Amino acid sequence: MKRIYLDNAATTMLGGEVLQEMMPYFTSIYGNSSSLHSFGREAVKGVDNARDIIANYIGAKNSELFFTSGGTESNNWALRGVAYANIKKGKHIITSEIEHHSILDTCKQLEKEGFTVTYLPVDSTGLVSISDLLHEIKPTTTIVSIMAVNNEIGTIQNIKAISEIVKFYGAYFHVDAVQALGAFKLNVNDLGVDLMSISAHKIHGPKGVGALYIRENVKINKFMLGGEQEQNRRGGTVNVPAVVGFGKAVELNARDLDYKDKKLFELTSYFIKKIEYEIPDIKINGNQNQKALSIVSVTFDNIEGENLIMLLDLKGIAVSTGSACASGSLEKSHVLKAIGLTDEQIRGTIRFSFDINISKDDIDYVVRTLCEEVQKLRNASPLKNKKKVN
Ligand SMILES: *Cc1c(COP(=O)(O)O)cnc(C)c1O
Repeated sequence: MKRIYLDNAATTMLGGEVLQEMMPYFTSIYGNSSSLHSFGREAVKGVDNARDIIANYIGAKNSELFFTSGGTESNNWALRGVAYANIKKGKHIITSEIEHHSILDTCKQLEKEGFTVTYLPVDSTGLVSISDLLHEIKPTTTIVSIMAVNNEIGTIQNIKAISEIVKFYGAYFHVDAVQALGAFKLNVNDLGVDLMSISAHKIHGPKGVGALYIRENVKINKFMLGGEQEQNRRGGTVNVPAVVGFGKAVELNARDLDYKDKKLFELTSYFIKKIEYEIPDIKINGNQNQKALSIVSVTFDNIEGENLIMLLDLKGIAVSTGSACASGSLEKSHVLKAIGLTDEQIRGTIRFSFDINISKDDIDYVVRTLCEEVQKLRNASPLKNKKKVN
């Protein structure tokens, strides 16, 4: 049976060249990068090289890049670290309703600790409105955190425009760029961001490693205590093999970005055209003018998405609902709710997230299977008489 992985927004396959680069750091180069002897120095070389590659790629100085355990830690650190370090300026935070849970849950916790958080709404395509931001930002706002690319619907925010307003009000601007890293060229100066979270495993790097970019002079507290690593700002023995793999993944991502763009455009427009032609009563979500090419969120009327996922899984096709909630949890996607979908539409929404290793044959198979399974589910649906289904 074919096995087709269309859940690349959840995680990606480790790249072969990435694994090769990491291997020596699992075997012969096992020193602790904090040690002063030759074993330590060899490990430091690998870490420094990765830091150079990544910092250079995002337009940062290498002293402004701090390795973490991933996007989640970077997001926690950015919010909590800035909120507490700047408490004299104020206790107000701004974010959006469609952020990743690592942002939203941190904000909810900060609210319990006495901070005030404004959650900006989005329009039906997932865009934050600049005038809403202007209306909500105030002198006591210390940090504004807005994601660059949404992981469920792919919408790309107007980061540059947001940054100008945030700067004008003297707040810090944090961007969750975990999904953006593989989607387009990121430059912290062009975008005007003060802090930026990235992660390796969404771009064919290893899981459990990421980084937080912190612009020089940003006032931020430590998050992980207990060691002098990372310029005494993030304690904990550095995960050297993972960091080395992260560097390689960023290098390859930079090298292949143009090709990837072209290929993903071909693949996803082919997929969208086919499903729009073959399957009635569907809707594509997100902002079609400003969207990560790899993410295609589709709402199927009169379908239980969870059932469709299981049926597709039996046919070797891996997709998701888009919300990475714990399995079994029936919590509705906050993103789909924020763009105005009804509960029924949310339940019928599936995220297909692509990578360039997918072939047109694969897509033909996926669309054929989708047609069959959607038809089956709709025929069995108690809702089928509500709407004509052919
Ligand atoms: C995956 C993801 C994260 C979390 O990153 P991890 O490295 O898995 O902790 C944060 N934000 C977005 C937008 C993501 O897609």
